[in-house]
Amino acid sequence: MLFCNIAVLDENLEYKTNMFVGTRGAYIEYIGAQKPQEDFGEEYMGEGKLLVTAFFNAHCHSSMTLLRGYAENLPLADWLNKKIFPFEAKLTENDVFNGAMLGIAEMLRTGTASFTDMYMFGEGVCAAAAETGMKCNYSSSMVCFDSSAYTDLPVCNETRLLYEKYHGFDDGRLLTDVCIHAEYTSTPAAASGAAEFARERGLNIHLHLSETKAEHEQCRQRHSGMTPAEYFDSLGVFENRVTAAHSVWITDSDAEIIKRAGASIASCPSSNLKLGSGFFRAPYMLDKGVNVALGTDGAASSNNLNMLKEIYLFALIHKGNTLDASVISPRQALYAATKAGAVSQGRSDCGALKVDNRADLTVFDLTAPNMCPMADGADMLVYSAQGDDVIMTMVDGRVLYRDGEYLTLDIEKVRFNAQKSRERIAGELV
Ligand SMILES: [Zn+2]
Repeated sequence: MLFCNIAVLDENLEYKTNMFVGTRGAYIEYIGAQKPQEDFGEEYMGEGKLLVTAFFNAHCHSSMTLLRGYAENLPLADWLNKKIFPFEAKLTENDVFNGAMLGIAEMLRTGTASFTDMYMFGEGVCAAAAETGMKCNYSSSMVCFDSSAYTDLPVCNETRLLYEKYHGFDDGRLLTDVCIHAEYTSTPAAASGAAEFARERGLNIHLHLSETKAEHEQCRQRHSGMTPAEYFDSLGVFENRVTAAHSVWITDSDAEIIKRAGASIASCPSSNLKLGSGFFRAPYMLDKGVNVALGTDGAASSNNLNMLKEIYLFALIHKGNTLDASVISPRQALYAATKAGAVSQGRSDCGALKVDNRADLTVFDLTAPNMCPMADGADMLVYSAQGDDVIMTMVDGRVLYRDGEYLTLDIEKVRFNAQKSRERIAGELV
């Protein structure tokens, strides 16, 4: 496809107008101010539109769309124990597929090309990603409270089977990671076993880290003063590429561990605010040079999987929290939602509008009232754009969403199936 006379945010997230961008196969082959000689197939008229590299959602539980609005205004412990866990105990693989399909529809609708997911019944999530053309790094949640070795846990077997079936699927569109749910849901033996399993296969590790103050402090009591980051470090977890979700309460020396390991943090502003978990110290971590990505978390805690909402909050809340309007520039917020997410997923040819990168692209409608009059594209995208200003999402050069239409899923069927799963489970819990 050749995008013609279109405004773009280039690889440095600089705003340029009247540009031409050509894609062939899964890649971006041309970017320039002149119309190229080569034929790129369909010519897309770009007047009044903004083309950007698509978003990478670095921490998600996509199937939790089934729990959207199901448990509201509760403190974390009640939210989890009284509402979320009982509902999740009723899930089947088919329910997980239905929830993931709805999550993918929502992400495509709001400009996301790729998501890092952690859940259960992973076949359901991977099949949904495979079928829809979405990019995904998936891992099934490892939770262990007894003396089992990692290799004796059913989740190890599931992780191995998913790895064999989906890791590298469709030219690397799907990748499987290894999950350690969190310090408080693991044992040292299981966590170090998972780290070894990942190391042997060169896989990423996805975990929750110091999400709440209580989690962080209870870890210190349990493990002779060690923070969750120190606990994982002592078990060899950070010898792998790690995505650590939340990291709200990590210390300065935890940040050193993360930086030294080249690990990524997936910050989830909506979820942290709604569950009252606190403020991730984004300005400090960015100054330190830590790779900070953004995630939506699941829809049970953040209600939607719209990365623009996370970008907006990320750019705003740290200004308010530090009383400094200069912290977190729009470009830093957009970088977190794109390149930093791609880096966290181990995808070196993604996350920037650049020749030879994957064509993961999103088009915004600049004729929307909230986008007029147009000023700097990066500022407008962060502070003014809405999720429904997205009019196209392309993944690996393939258009999956365009002008209200989904090309690889039947949205009526997706909505119906998700509603059916929700009603069945809610009905069983009455
Ligand atoms: Zn999470």
